[in-house]
Amino acid sequence: MTTELRELYQQVILDHNKKPRNFHVLEGTNRTAEGYNPLCGDQITLYLRLEDGVVKDAAFQGKGCAISKASASMMTAAVIGKPLDEVESLFQRLHTMLTGETGASGDGLGKLAVFAGVREFPSRVKCATLAWHTLHAALCGAAAPVSTE
Ligand code: ZN
Repeated sequence: MTTELRELYQQVILDHNKKPRNFHVLEGTNRTAEGYNPLCGDQITLYLRLEDGVVKDAAFQGKGCAISKASASMMTAAVIGKPLDEVESLFQRLHTMLTGETGASGDGLGKLAVFAGVREFPSRVKCATLAWHTLHAALCGAAAPVSTE
């Protein structure tokens, strides 16, 4: 990754940290889940409104580092209006980009590709994936809080 690209990615993450999108409690949700990353202390509560297999609305609350907050912010923005199979494939792509053997490819991830740089910092990968694991739990209807440990 070039230095310019890395700096651009950092700016996007910092912007989402400062002004997180969909950062509020959502009324009329039918799925919620909580996630916790004990390594960093990131906490997130995710609210979803599902209708006919489509994420109609999504929002989150929580506290944590810039990466966890930016990731949750961008995740909610990315999944609103998407059918569940597309949400699932985004999650798989992001997960592969961050943890897969073959190296980072942001193909098909759109803006979420900004998290590719996190791959170089294994301790921060969990910050970036916390929101997604929480989303997964919310969609699967898991009752217990999610922990990245
Ligand atoms: Zn974190």
